[in-house]
Amino acid sequence: MLTTLKRIVQEVNQIPDLDNALSCVASRVKDALKVDSCSVYLANYEEQNLLLVATDGLAPDAIGHVAIGFSEGLIGLIGQREEPINISDAPAHPRFKHYPEVKEENYHAFLGAPIIHQRRVLGVITLQQRKRRKFSEDEEAFLVTLATQLALEIAHAEARGILTVNDSGTTSHWQKPLRGVPGSTGLAIGIGYIADLKVNLRNHVARRSDDAEGELARFKQAVYQTREQVADLSSRIATSVPDDVQGIFQLYHQLLDANSLGTEVEAKIQQGWDAPSALKLVVDVYVNQFRSMNDPYMQERAIDVEDLANRVLVNLLHSEQDLSKKLASVGESILIAEEVSAPMLAEFPRDKLRGIISMRGSNNSHAAILARAMGLPAVMGLTDVPLSLLEGKEILLDGYSGAVIVAPSESVREEFKQLVAEEQLLSERILKQADLEAVTIDGCDVSLLINAGLSAELENSHMHSGEGVGLYRTEVPFMLRQRFPSEQEQCSLYRSMLKAYPGKEICMRTLDVGGDKPLPYFPINEENPFLGWRGIRLTLDHPEIFLVQVRAMLRANIGYGNLKIMLPMITTVSEVVEAKRLIKQAYYEVADEEKMPEGALLMPKIGVMLEVPSVLYHLPQLAAKVDFFSVGSNDLTQYLLAVDRNNPRVAPLYDSYHPAVLAALNNIVQQANQLNTPVTVCGELAGEPGGAILLLAMGYRSLSMNSHNLLKVKWVIRSVDLSDAKALLAEVLALDEPREVKNRINHYLETIGLGGLVRAGI
Ligand code: PEP
Ligand code: MG
Repeated sequence: MLTTLKRIVQEVNQIPDLDNALSCVASRVKDALKVDSCSVYLANYEEQNLLLVATDGLAPDAIGHVAIGFSEGLIGLIGQREEPINISDAPAHPRFKHYPEVKEENYHAFLGAPIIHQRRVLGVITLQQRKRRKFSEDEEAFLVTLATQLALEIAHAEARGILTVNDSGTTSHWQKPLRGVPGSTGLAIGIGYIADLKVNLRNHVARRSDDAEGELARFKQAVYQTREQVADLSSRIATSVPDDVQGIFQLYHQLLDANSLGTEVEAKIQQGWDAPSALKLVVDVYVNQFRSMNDPYMQERAIDVEDLANRVLVNLLHSEQDLSKKLASVGESILIAEEVSAPMLAEFPRDKLRGIISMRGSNNSHAAILARAMGLPAVMGLTDVPLSLLEGKEILLDGYSGAVIVAPSESVREEFKQLVAEEQLLSERILKQADLEAVTIDGCDVSLLINAGLSAELENSHMHSGEGVGLYRTEVPFMLRQRFPSEQEQCSLYRSMLKAYPGKEICMRTLDVGGDKPLPYFPINEENPFLGWRGIRLTLDHPEIFLVQVRAMLRANIGYGNLKIMLPMITTVSEVVEAKRLIKQAYYEVADEEKMPEGALLMPKIGVMLEVPSVLYHLPQLAAKVDFFSVGSNDLTQYLLAVDRNNPRVAPLYDSYHPAVLAALNNIVQQANQLNTPVTVCGELAGEPGGAILLLAMGYRSLSMNSHNLLKVKWVIRSVDLSDAKALLAEVLALDEPREVKNRINHYLETIGLGGLVRAGI
């Protein structure tokens, strides 16, 4: 059964348009299960019905005509109940409704399963048989499994549908936006630029073109380039590989021949497909043919054909220029990637970058934090959209709501531009207050610090408006290299940081890799990376990495004295004890090597991040060992709520405004005050207008955030009254849902004239 299912799904995946794909499903399923009919219905929420879109067994001319209301018939019932229905005699069922157009009079046995994606019923798939019989458990399991696979296909097609409608230049006033997770607030307009398009025919979506001549020339050029590359490759390795591998290159040359694959691709281009799509359509047939051969040697050749075609595709997509030339000529862009990384952002011209779309990741992935640090609007987790369809399109991005509009109509664009202008006005207003104190209306002082380091040199401006650095993430310099940075390299980097803020405290966090921050040269493959080898756990297991880093920090601090050291991901007291032992060892080594008299080398203050829930119940023990605490609300939220901060599927559950998270934060500051241990919040919550107000009300007087948010938060603090904030806190702590908390806060922000900070427009 599983093989049959896989085969069907694979075959269907190759079909570019949904209608044909679904009719293929209907026929293949009918044959595979030996039933008399298989049909697919798709939900139309505007019309509140399920439309028959494919069938093998019912009347073919009913396709596209028979629509069954959400509350009608057995099909409607499956949608309503959101579960399969298996009955031996459908006409005898009280919900059976006769639709003469479908001609199902002779059918009795009926099995239907809903097609559901992210809690939404997208359609229904049914099996019918003349005989009266109950479908077997195996058949039911097969249909349910198939439905889950179809759900993804349909969701993709829905997204594609939105894009292809816009492709053809239709400009309907109403445009359905794609929905992702808001990653970084702000609005952006730009052309989609794909940063890491994995060039692969399998994930290429077929597109049409009306420039056959142009596409032909493009294809010929790409084939020519590929031929050269293959020749070059084969001559370079000629002596070092066996003959049969050489044979593969021969095959490549033959396939590239104008009489072979080339002719067929050219024919497809003449039929109106663009060059990459023509290549895909032809190659898919070849690959399937090779795969279905009995001879294992010939089956293997499918891989060769695919590989060769992918090489041609690379040349087709990047034919004109190499990456740097391409980057040099980009206009105002929205950078799009499977997963946006710091190096990707580093190579993109900053003055052309308007916004970011990351297909993977969620609101608190490091890619989103990076976007916020750079003041770039971002949308994350746009999971159901084929990446390649966003390339080169005009995109409107709303980082407040997570909406993305592709190829907008004139009127939508104009409306959006108006909002962008209003946003600009707001940031000018905020800038005007940049040099004023962060003090509430009723005189409460707050210390605002900067989170730095995440993007190395990418963070810009306003760094000096903070009173120091509350969190310096040291991992980026590690991530940007091909090996661990040397002690000397680290030392100069840290020194430049300490030197840039003389007299202001710089809190450097020891290496916090693992989770969603991998090192390219130190791969960690784990089932549960966020619960795995991360932060202090990794560095304590590799004291050589930890010691070198701490030595670099201590050495960099000589002559400045403004360093603090912070330990990430602390779970137990013994980790602190061990880390302090190593810090002491590094201290004596550096003092000795630098020939400093006893006591002349400064021992920095040492603190811990509070981000693992266990420490909430261990604060007195920890306070006895350290000089300060810093709350990592990003991870604390993830661990308290057991929600992967990087997984868009559970993004709605990840919420630092969950009353339980707020209660934990409230409890931490009360305990820390009792213990006389200074405490800062350096998670993203501290940099959000609503978050800052609540933290202030709880009693936090030190907040650390990215430099962009710092100015906003300062503006917020200067606009609130601490007593109002306390009343708001008391109210939200008693609420049930994060959504209610946010509504309440947003309402408060609107009443004090700050609504423009949490939504588009002023
Ligand atoms: C946090 O977890 O809140 C934090 C500041 O650390 P990071 O986001 O780097 O994991
Ligand atoms: Mg953290």
